[in-house]
Amino acid sequence: MAFINIYPVYTSQELAFKSKQNTMQSQAAVIASTLSGLETLNSENVGKVLELLDIGNLTRTAITNQSALILYDTESTEASQPRYAIFPELIKALDGYDVFNSVFADSAFHSSVTVPVMHHNSIIGCVYIYEYDGDQGALLVGVQMTFRNISLVVGALVLVICVILSRGLTSRISRILAAMRIVREGEYSHRMDISGSDELAELGREFNRLTDRLETTEEMRRRFVSDASHELKTPLASIRLLTDSILQTQEMDPATTREFVADIGAEAERLSRMSEKLLSLTRLSGVKLETVPVRLSQVIETAAHMLRPLAGSAQIEIELDLDEDAVTLADPDDMHQIIFNLVENAIKYNHPGGKVRVRLFSYGKLVEIMVEDNGIGIPEEDLPRIFERFYRVEKARSRETGGSGIGLSIVADTVARYNGTVSAERSSIGGMCFCVKLPAYMEGKS
Ligand code: ADP
Repeated sequence: MAFINIYPVYTSQELAFKSKQNTMQSQAAVIASTLSGLETLNSENVGKVLELLDIGNLTRTAITNQSALILYDTESTEASQPRYAIFPELIKALDGYDVFNSVFADSAFHSSVTVPVMHHNSIIGCVYIYEYDGDQGALLVGVQMTFRNISLVVGALVLVICVILSRGLTSRISRILAAMRIVREGEYSHRMDISGSDELAELGREFNRLTDRLETTEEMRRRFVSDASHELKTPLASIRLLTDSILQTQEMDPATTREFVADIGAEAERLSRMSEKLLSLTRLSGVKLETVPVRLSQVIETAAHMLRPLAGSAQIEIELDLDEDAVTLADPDDMHQIIFNLVENAIKYNHPGGKVRVRLFSYGKLVEIMVEDNGIGIPEEDLPRIFERFYRVEKARSRETGGSGIGLSIVADTVARYNGTVSAERSSIGGMCFCVKLPAYMEGKS
């Protein structure tokens, strides 16, 4: 707007100066050349010559001789007193220069031209003409005013639009901030209602997605805390009960004492199993992998050996069908953990007299571990969630078996760390079939 206001006004002013210079210089030249026919200049001959010329448009015309004595002046007619015109333009003109001056002030152009009058190559006087042009000045002021008014209107419009837009923007930002504060206070079910397709709407939707996750995590955390405290409370209460019985019974026979102590041991083992699982969950995050080639058949045999007593007590038969060549690059403890968890589950969630079948295959770039059982299975609707942390199909049924919903999430996280996959589906032999696929280790290749 500053440019609109300054540039056109400046240009039209320049144009007006140029045209003034042209017309006034030619007018002064006409007067000077008419006067140059005279040998010397005096008040009479100059007056006569100028009466013949048309100088009506000029505000002031003055003629001096070569000593700057005013011989003719349209502004002052008293010829009695000799007057000298001593101002810079006139002195320059008497030196032989043409001088033009124009200023725009008080809404008018003030222009003057001073030229020497020559006679046979010598300066015999000088012509000074001055014009006051209020019409063109008024025109220029009009243009200036028009531009200023346009600028004011445009400025006001821009201001109004800016205020409206920024109000809209800040109100949406305030809504986002308000929603953030509500969620920060723990109201995880709060969702922001924001429409549109701009960045703020996207931010709002992203915030809602984040809150979704927060809500799920919070729900899981709550459930875990209540489950964990419940799970820990049960074995601790029985240990307490058993120790109290031993201490309070005066003459307890050694066989009962042994039985009670064995029960205490079993409960303590259950507690340590649960804390171990919790520890491995924390261990999974952010630890650098140290891997070696692992022969999976050996790991499976060891895990099966460790679980045989548990299987035996439930009269469950473990069947192994292993490919000796299946090797993967991993931490052996991690592989043990995966297999142990899957086989333990297959035993825990089985019927007495049931069966667990572990098979190991190796196909080129992949090795595959399949743990199948003919146990109780998992309802179709629970299948998508069983690898989530702390998810249990039926809380009651896994509490009976000492489960806490961590085992399968450990399996999934560990498998993912080795760029493998794990899936669960109905088994052809009745219960569940868990299938783990891992990259095979090939000698000589990294
Ligand atoms: P948990 O410690 O409770 O066993 P997991 O993460 O190992 O936790 O298992 C999650 C849920 O999946 C369990 O609550 C259990 O109901 C179900 N589940 C796991 N494996 C089997 C299986 N082989 N057969 C039937 N249900 C299973």
